Amino acid sequence: MLNILQSQKDFFNEGNTKPVQFRIAQLKKLLATIQQHENEIYNALYIDLKKSKEEVWVTELAMVINEIKYQISNLKNWMQPQLVRTNFTNFGSKSYLMYEPFGVVLIIAPWNYPFQLLFNPLVGAIAAGNCVALKGSEHAPATNAVMQQIITTTFNNNYTSYFDGDGATIVPQLMHNFRFDHVFYTGSTVVGKSIYKMAAEQLTPVTLELGGKSPCVVTPSANIKITAKRIVVSKFSNCGQMCVAPDYVIVHESKKDALVAALIKAIEKMYTTDAATCYNYGKIINEKQWNRLANYLQQGKIIYGGNTNKKSLYIQPTLITDVNLNNSIMQEEIFGPILPILTYNTPAEALQIISANPNPLAFYVFAKNDKQKAYWLNQVAFGGGCVNNTAWHLTNHHLPFGGKGNSGMGAYHGKKSFETFSHCKSIMKSPNWFDPSIKYPPFKGKLNIFKWLIK
Ligand code: NAD
Repeated sequence: MLNILQSQKDFFNEGNTKPVQFRIAQLKKLLATIQQHENEIYNALYIDLKKSKEEVWVTELAMVINEIKYQISNLKNWMQPQLVRTNFTNFGSKSYLMYEPFGVVLIIAPWNYPFQLLFNPLVGAIAAGNCVALKGSEHAPATNAVMQQIITTTFNNNYTSYFDGDGATIVPQLMHNFRFDHVFYTGSTVVGKSIYKMAAEQLTPVTLELGGKSPCVVTPSANIKITAKRIVVSKFSNCGQMCVAPDYVIVHESKKDALVAALIKAIEKMYTTDAATCYNYGKIINEKQWNRLANYLQQGKIIYGGNTNKKSLYIQPTLITDVNLNNSIMQEEIFGPILPILTYNTPAEALQIISANPNPLAFYVFAKNDKQKAYWLNQVAFGGGCVNNTAWHLTNHHLPFGGKGNSGMGAYHGKKSFETFSHCKSIMKSPNWFDPSIKYPPFKGKLNIFKWLIK
């Protein structure tokens, strides 16, 4: 393990990964191998999560393929030193920003979108010129195996390596014994804290893409039919095992009945009346997660759904009301197909509920009125979000994706990925033709002129 990482450091220090041609060639090789493994990726994600091919394309494959193409098209431009303005004190000089790679970076991913969440940051890390150590999730073993095969057939392990196994064992081994130049972690907030601590011991910078309870506020002016469709598609896609899925809904009391009726209609239209046999409906990843979710079903009044099958890891799309804010269903990220519906009469009531779980990864508000939209966006501190939609913000690579506080730090996607995996050097170039004596000692008696020049 350490031999591999040391060989990566050597490969980096020799300057191999810096030229733009090298980076683009690696991205092209990765793209070709992914395309060759398209069917294996579909099969693996069906085994791990019962995802349909269509869902895999939209939420996993296309996101990575588009990201690779976008980085290839823009990389040369992003790598150019960027001229910025120079202040009066430094008259005559020129100022630049120069992006350089960190070195050897570690990327750790979770199981819910196991392919996209490992390979999307990988694309950014390669584009930025780093060597990469990858750690996929052991809880999605079929996808993990295909990803490992893709990496080992595409790259030498002195450039990009793959580590497999139990995260709680292997990640500390990696991080305690080797000084990574950056760690990019996606997963739960609890594990994120221990990653941050391990990184701090070596002053390694981190990007943390964590979770949280993402609220969805439905105001009186919302279009209820569209609201329901857009909540249902994100809440029950991948069985709700999505970091930006609406965790719970807070609807204005006057719209509750209409929203519930529209949600049920939308669920049955998208996932039929028997989601267990529906092509579009997935499964819970494993028994541990199934048990955790089954426990939430005891914590309120089920107004729709609630059917389960432990053997097939099935939980029906479920709407639940009368939940207690002190119970785990309202204190932990649900990360499954159970949607609590709460109501509010005044915005202050809704804000109080939201503030119990501060800094959600995502926030959604459904409203027609522009003042209302601005009000909600300003009142809640969150990673990113949508107005009159859910989750789709993360599919636009022009929008950096990341959390805040409890939901993480740093962001990626598109140009932001390149920046996230680069160190930005600030450079000032000074000419010899301009060398005012005032800049050198003796300084005595120059205070007034300094005050006039440097304000
Ligand atoms: P997890 O924290 O259990 O595991 C994530 C990764 O960390 C895995 O590769 C695992 O092997 C490793 N790991 C597990 N225990 C570890 C330990 N003690 N020390 C070091 N590494 C360890 O997370 P999960 O259950 O796989 O994922 C679910 C969570 O991830 C949810 O909270 C979800 O919101 C969040 N998530 C966030 C995003 C995002 O982009 N912000 C995306 C997907 C999931």
